[in-house]
Amino acid sequence: MLGRKALTDVLTHWRNASRLAEDNVAKQAFQFPNSGIGLALSVACTSWDEQSSSVRSFRMNGWPGVRKSSAGQASACRRESVMSQRGVVQIVNAHRQQEGGGFVVRRPFPSASLRYADPFVLLDEMGPVEYGPGQAIGAPDHPHRGFETVTYVLEGESEHEDSAGHRGKIGPGDVQWMTAGRGIVHSEMPSQELQRSGGRMHGFQIWVNLPARDKMIAPRYQEIPRTRIPLAMTSDCLAIVHVIAGEALGAHAVIETRTPISYLHWTFSPGASVQLPLPREHAAYVYVFDGAVRVDNRDLHSGQLAVLGEGDSVQFEASQRAQVLSLSGVPLREPFVQYGPFVMNTEREIQQAFEDYQAGRLGEIRR
Ligand code: MN
Repeated sequence: MLGRKALTDVLTHWRNASRLAEDNVAKQAFQFPNSGIGLALSVACTSWDEQSSSVRSFRMNGWPGVRKSSAGQASACRRESVMSQRGVVQIVNAHRQQEGGGFVVRRPFPSASLRYADPFVLLDEMGPVEYGPGQAIGAPDHPHRGFETVTYVLEGESEHEDSAGHRGKIGPGDVQWMTAGRGIVHSEMPSQELQRSGGRMHGFQIWVNLPARDKMIAPRYQEIPRTRIPLAMTSDCLAIVHVIAGEALGAHAVIETRTPISYLHWTFSPGASVQLPLPREHAAYVYVFDGAVRVDNRDLHSGQLAVLGEGDSVQFEASQRAQVLSLSGVPLREPFVQYGPFVMNTEREIQQAFEDYQAGRLGEIRR
């Protein structure tokens, strides 16, 4: 571990580069040159010597384990040189499209300008829509193979049944993470109550691709109620995050993913400013669905998705209320063949999926 002297040096250096004395609590990134480990941590300055402009004592929060000894080798760098911020390399406007039994979605991808956001296959915003009695539409029995569907409901209620015998109903704030693997047939419908009486429906479905080694695994179903979705906020309370997958602001998701994925729902109040560390090896995307947010000096508006470039963090600035999904994950970089509800690596595997479905090998929903 770092020696106290080295840390003091770090903090003294940092004092000149940032606003530790003013903030008293600040976040900074450190790089350990010989270990290749970069990390963000929170340091509270508990005693500041004005005369010498140095830290007398300090407390560190969330200090992660660093296996390799780095005593005397730590160097604090200015924020801009250590946390390299991801830029915006492409902005995609979501198009409207009918899905399932005819409900309308906003879909930034797949689209003509963004065919595949490896490792994410699809992002659909369902609604918001106000249904009258008897009007609510869903997606009756249909198959999937080779990937995962993740449904996150904001308003309304959705009922799910599948050929593996899973059944569930998810409402506002709940998440259903369904691993199709080698194949299922499922139905995704507004709840009986919503179909009967009408009401508002708003939510998301994303498709997460599975690596070739996992495409034929057994189907799995994770249903996570809103009470188990971790919630965190910045110390100024201007940014709130629901951690569906991955981690943010010290909160860790309960959902298990096959490959490293981050799926976060942000709510920003005017004045919010958040730096989110994201692993350098992740491909990252930001979708705005309410208000507007600034990333890399670009204003992103509701219905726009930004493809982010390389770096190890993303900086959000909000001058108005905004809601945003941030998605990131390690790209699979494997051959990608999609046909409708099947996502495989080769044309032959797609053909096999159709044959298996038609022969009833993906099963049927027993009612
Ligand atoms: Mn489906």
